[in-house]
Amino acid sequence: MKRDQLVFDIIEKERKRQLSGIELIASENFVSEQVMEAMGSVMTNKYAEGYPGKRYYGGCQIVDQTEQLAIDRVKELFGAEYANVQPHSGAQANAAVLSVILKPGDKFLGLDLAHGGHLSHGSPVNSSGILYQPIAYHVKEETGMVDYDEMEALAKEHKPKLIIGGASAYSREWDYARMRKIADEVGAMLMIDMAHPAGLIAAGLLENPVKHAHVVTSTTHKTLRGPRGGIILMGKDFENPFGFKTPKGETKMMSAVLDFAVFPGQQGGPLEHVIASKAIAFGEALDPSYKAYQTQVKKNAAVMAEAFIAKGYKVISGGTDNHSMLIDLRTKFPELTGKKAENTLVLADITINKNMVPFDSRSPFSTSGLRVGTPAITTRGLKEDAMPVIVDLIDEVLTNPDNEEVIASVRKRVNQLMEGLPLFAW
Ligand code: PLP
Repeated sequence: MKRDQLVFDIIEKERKRQLSGIELIASENFVSEQVMEAMGSVMTNKYAEGYPGKRYYGGCQIVDQTEQLAIDRVKELFGAEYANVQPHSGAQANAAVLSVILKPGDKFLGLDLAHGGHLSHGSPVNSSGILYQPIAYHVKEETGMVDYDEMEALAKEHKPKLIIGGASAYSREWDYARMRKIADEVGAMLMIDMAHPAGLIAAGLLENPVKHAHVVTSTTHKTLRGPRGGIILMGKDFENPFGFKTPKGETKMMSAVLDFAVFPGQQGGPLEHVIASKAIAFGEALDPSYKAYQTQVKKNAAVMAEAFIAKGYKVISGGTDNHSMLIDLRTKFPELTGKKAENTLVLADITINKNMVPFDSRSPFSTSGLRVGTPAITTRGLKEDAMPVIVDLIDEVLTNPDNEEVIASVRKRVNQLMEGLPLFAW
């Protein structure tokens, strides 16, 4: 077969885009060469429905080894007793857990999407909001912090079966202990989706939700720095409180019903090439060098938030405890939408995403905010001294969003800054 140069030329353009720009999307990172190598390996050829040792296909004895390694390593990494490494994505991991705990029409609490929550935590356009009955809690307008008093009041009023914590755009530590107390008081289960800060948690730099929640889900590709995918963890196995039955009509322990919910509940064959890659990424996260990387991610974010504030930007909640921050543009540039800011920064090779801010006056397509994160630039090797430089570059563009000369000049400096840094600098 002739090499498909058309596609490879496009891939090369994307490689160059990643190499020459400043990547500030909080949910992105650059994986290591070995993580990438496993994803492009022969493991992609294998069907392996089922779990290690219990498959519906022959010839799974080798992929069983990498899947078992991934399970063992992620359990060690987060101190978990149970792990499922098969979810194809974070959203699928969440859908699987919800399908176990909730029946159609059941109530659950999740952080409002417009306040930093994720689609899969109850948005009306996601299966979580279509099948079940979500009730949103919020952040406080004055502090930008999760309003746990509201969460408690809503839990007492609605008696949900599930409370979901975790977010896509929230820069502060969570009070998992308080959430568990609220859940216990109303007989709900607590699920924490740690997709965003998972790498910082793995490095011991933030509280570990596995110690508090009944179930923890995550993606593997954000701060954690693995391949695209999802995982489900539990600190300990326990009886399935709502009597969820497996497709065979049996009521089993939570570990068994969660496994059933992923396969055959949500998915068919697992992506064994991605699972091998997850095993490598978890191994990298267990290496002592990983803590130094995550410490730098956190330091870079803290310094960057301070630099934005020093330039007159409003950072929601006044700073960050993790890898990310949310900027409300309205204070400095009342007329500038997040959409225009994102598009203009992309022209200067600075990749960032527009985001709703809590109590936003604009629509999700336009928005008044930007979400910024440091995992990817830290992998490129940038340290805290580069953060004010990056903020200056962003500020120059946002102050002159229609000035092509300024944008071209910033782009040149962005490319110079990134030129010396390898894509996989670690
Ligand atoms: N959960 C949270 C908190 C997220 O931020 C995201 C993605 O941004 C997801 C789940 C979904 O992950 P995926 O895109 O892999 O489905």
